[in-house]
Amino acid sequence: MSKYYKNILETVGHTPMVQLKHIFPNSKHNYFAKVEYLNPGGSIKDRVAVAMIEDAERRGDLKPGGTIIEATSGNTGVGLALVGAVKGYKCIFTMPEKMSEEKRAILRAYGARVVITPSSVEPDHPMSHYSVAKKFAQEIPGAFLVNQFHNPDNPKRHYETTGPEIWDQMEGKVDMLVGGAGTGGTLSGCAKFLKEKNPQVKVICADPIGSILYDLYYHKKIVDPPGSYKVEGVGEDMLPDNVHLNMYDGFFKVSDQEAFDITRELVAKEGLLVGPSSGLALVGAVKAAEKLEKPANIVVIFPDSGRAYLSKAFNDKWMVENGLLDAEDTKNAFNRVLTAEEALADLKKK
Ligand code: PMP
Repeated sequence: MSKYYKNILETVGHTPMVQLKHIFPNSKHNYFAKVEYLNPGGSIKDRVAVAMIEDAERRGDLKPGGTIIEATSGNTGVGLALVGAVKGYKCIFTMPEKMSEEKRAILRAYGARVVITPSSVEPDHPMSHYSVAKKFAQEIPGAFLVNQFHNPDNPKRHYETTGPEIWDQMEGKVDMLVGGAGTGGTLSGCAKFLKEKNPQVKVICADPIGSILYDLYYHKKIVDPPGSYKVEGVGEDMLPDNVHLNMYDGFFKVSDQEAFDITRELVAKEGLLVGPSSGLALVGAVKAAEKLEKPANIVVIFPDSGRAYLSKAFNDKWMVENGLLDAEDTKNAFNRVLTAEEALADLKKK
């Protein structure tokens, strides 16, 4: 058997599980990260991108020369653009304006067309990223609307791959799985697999303040109206079919401040360059773990790479402007950028 891959799509999945050793030195629990940024497109969404396209090809919903269309916060777009590049499909993505510049640039690098829609409109508004994507799919011949929020091939791929990988890597010793939910595919698919293996495994969703999923889970209706927040890719202002609330064992609300703080700490203390939805999931995990009596093995999904947020979470100016960092704290930080003269003067002071 050859030792090389026939194309980059074959490298999707089989991501490492890494124990977090430094961030909670006094915790009685063991935290493990499923490091999904090591997928070739840089996020967990590569898995479902390949699945949703190959399943559509098998069904005949997408034919050679066709166009892939999707409403995406970025990562699914990157996965689909990667698949489109390898398989020769055109790609058009609609994306709310709040998503980072890097995400737009990456999609364009793969040759995709990016259409920016307003962030603060209702999902059924004609200019929402869902409605605009639907319109393109109706008008363009040979178009396939991927529909990740409702497409059952999304959670199915996590049931087939992510869930079994977690089970194998933990040798069955997993007590709790924690992640955020955007489409819900990751948690729903992993929950189904892990609970089939062991019904005692708890599945917890970390939900940004401003998302409605928490209310739908605990109150079956929206109590706090949807609000805006800075963490990307998780939380919702509608209920996707792929959020299978009956598979989840609890929800915890997480603020932007909590998520961004721990994300920055994670990179610096564990060497894992992840994005803010990973930090959000980890905060959710800690909140859930506080309620556990016995020490537990807790697996946290880290969906994407911090490289997509260099202009945001890892840019002090942006953090200060968005009220997430105190300007004073940045002035003397060891990791501030200095000219050689400044650094040498600093040396003399000591
Ligand atoms: N984090 C990020 C950064 C994402 O882009 C997504 C996907 N929207 C998720 C988490 C959530 O994954 P899922 O769609 O499987 O719920």
